[in-house]
Amino acid sequence: MSDGDGIWYSETLHEGLRTSFQVKRVLFDNRSDHQHLVIADSVSFGKVMMLDGVTQLTTADEFIYHEMLSHVPILAHGAVKDVLVIGGGDGGIAAEVLKHDSVERFTLVEIDGGVVDFSKTHLPEVSRGAFEDPRFEVIIQDGKDFAATTERRYDLIVIDSTDPIGPGEVLFTESFYRDCHRMLKAGGIIVTQNGVPFFQPKELAQTIRFFSGIFRDATCFLAAVPTYVGGFMALGWGSDDGDLRKVAPEIIQQRFEAAQIETRYYTPEIHQACFALPRFIGDIVASARQGSPLRDL
Ligand code: SAM
Repeated sequence: MSDGDGIWYSETLHEGLRTSFQVKRVLFDNRSDHQHLVIADSVSFGKVMMLDGVTQLTTADEFIYHEMLSHVPILAHGAVKDVLVIGGGDGGIAAEVLKHDSVERFTLVEIDGGVVDFSKTHLPEVSRGAFEDPRFEVIIQDGKDFAATTERRYDLIVIDSTDPIGPGEVLFTESFYRDCHRMLKAGGIIVTQNGVPFFQPKELAQTIRFFSGIFRDATCFLAAVPTYVGGFMALGWGSDDGDLRKVAPEIIQQRFEAAQIETRYYTPEIHQACFALPRFIGDIVASARQGSPLRDL
């Protein structure tokens, strides 16, 4: 859309709300086999990636989401070697996870090879060389099919997907989460992209409700990502080891220092704080755990 003051790309993910980015130039705008891919150079947020009209990331603040989905579970677990990411074709999670020398194998299962290709070309500042890391393996496949068939096992599974619309919808189902549970090694952790609860309470509630029937520990943790409007973003957390999200602050501090990684959002203090939920989000989690109907949200 262009009007008097330049080109604007709009997102209408949430009913009754439109957010727009003023764009200096469009770097890529095309359809792949699965979705409409756009990368544009914006006035205020660096490069913006949109899939099917929904903002996926901006180079201004992608570090927040990618650091939190990576370092919180890795430092809570303490011995992550095998990591699976489903989605994540931009390489942002890979860039953060592969900062950890302890990680030995990293598998990325992405449905759309076009996202990987254009991210390598147009978003090198997001993947920061991760695609060339010898530990990195890319599999172009629907994550649901991979999860249903693989014999591989992982310490950490990151569901870095689009929202539950289009190809991403299958990654929010109970059967998919049960397959993920099967793929986890003992003491493993799954973390998920679960939207902004202020606008998408049902998305979070449904994941927590499914997790509660599959994992001994089911909750979420939070990150504040400016371009995901509506306040805190919820990141789902599932594990059969309830102690993993209660690791003592001094242990997390020791692990962070030993990892010798650079971060711009994650700190050991944020690690502790991110599991503290505002009342309205805590209520969504609590009622989902009890199996309350989603229609009340
Ligand atoms: N990392 C970004 C962020 O900062 O929020 C957003 C996520 S990433 C771009 C979402 C990816 O999930 C896309 O590359 C999309 O192609 C992929 N995806 C969607 N459905 C999928 C499926 N069923 N299996 C595997 N990948 C899928």
